[in-house]
Amino acid sequence: ETTLGERIARAMGAGGPPEVVRAVSEVSLSIAKGEVVGLVGESGCGKSTLGRMVAGIYVPSAGAIRFDGAPVAKPAGRRVEKLTTRVQMIHQDPFASLNPRVRVVDTVAEGPVAHGIVGAKHSDDYVADMLTRVGFDAAMRRRFPHQFSGGQRQRIAIARALAMKPDLLVLDEPVASLDVSIQAQVLNLFQELRRDLGLTAIFVSHDLGVVRHVSDRVAIMYLGRIVEVAPTRTLYAAPAHPYTKALFESVPKIGAGRGVFKPIAGEIPSPLAPPPGCHFHPRCPAAGPRCRREAPRLVETGPGQRAACHLHDGGVA
Ligand code: SF4
Ligand code: MG
Repeated sequence: ETTLGERIARAMGAGGPPEVVRAVSEVSLSIAKGEVVGLVGESGCGKSTLGRMVAGIYVPSAGAIRFDGAPVAKPAGRRVEKLTTRVQMIHQDPFASLNPRVRVVDTVAEGPVAHGIVGAKHSDDYVADMLTRVGFDAAMRRRFPHQFSGGQRQRIAIARALAMKPDLLVLDEPVASLDVSIQAQVLNLFQELRRDLGLTAIFVSHDLGVVRHVSDRVAIMYLGRIVEVAPTRTLYAAPAHPYTKALFESVPKIGAGRGVFKPIAGEIPSPLAPPPGCHFHPRCPAAGPRCRREAPRLVETGPGQRAACHLHDGGVA
């Protein structure tokens, strides 16, 4: 029933409540139906903020986030009014996102009943079906969140989001708080659901390994800007942007032992006062005079690959 060309377009400038700093600027990204896009960056780069804007939790202070042509949220005084249920978000912390005093069945049924997605009379069967989809016994719907482990709670959070029949899921570090073995289970579940339901999703993560596993395309963010976007295979085989390359070099190699971890040189500057020109220039080994003056444009560097770097757009001098 959804049309092709779901678009999340042009989020230019953030600052909607409760964020005060300018966390995201000059971002342009669109997502096709059925596609999973990974959004990667170091902490503080604005990826969660962008995810929240897409999910209608924050409103950009300039520009717009559109889904199928319509805004996902609007400011309402000091709050934000969500304008669609078609975009749903899954948060990092499955402990914080479920009310401990509410049975799983009521947690999962609440949104769909309130929005007329399922009638109250049928909600119990509906929830049973959703829980089965995420690998639970239907009888588990009578339990409370504390009776589940972290990975199970994250699966409940996924069931709750899916129960809203979303056309787009935003997952913000959905496995970051889980043990590695449980991470794999949740990621495999996501892949299964993706196959069965044709999910469209934005997968926010700081973990290049996780994102590689689940994404068709990957967008790399640095200090509030997207610096590279490419099909997953291209990005991992031939990254175009110096920051993307530095990120790969900073990942410890498996089996290489201690001491191989190589952090990116220099501190992450404050997003309140990002460096002029290319935000990455103080840390970039390839920087030239132009990089300090002029912000690079996102230009095509290969099939489906774009990077915001003067090296790919006339040179750094
Ligand atoms: Fe480095 Fe300049 Fe490219 Fe920025 S524009 S990534 S500073 S070479
Ligand atoms: Mg975050």
